[in-house]
Amino acid sequence: MTADRGEEPHVRQLLGAYVLDALEDGESGPVARHLQRCGACAAAYVEVAEAVSLLALLNLDDLLE
Ligand SMILES: [Zn+2]
Repeated sequence: MTADRGEEPHVRQLLGAYVLDALEDGESGPVARHLQRCGACAAAYVEVAEAVSLLALLNLDDLLE
C-alpha cells in the first residue's frame, strides 16, 4: 500500500490488460475498485473495452502477441 495524500494511482496503463483479463490475480481487484471511484478511468475503460471488443471480432490472436 502506498501512503499518498488521498490520490491513488490511476489505472489507465492497466486497462488494456484488464479488459483482456490478462492481469495478475492481485491486480484486477484494485483496478475494479478504482474504476468504481474514478470517473476518468471508468470512461477510459469503456473506450478500451469497446475498442477491444471491436478488434476481438477481427483478430484477437494478434492483440495477445
Ligand atoms: Zn483513475
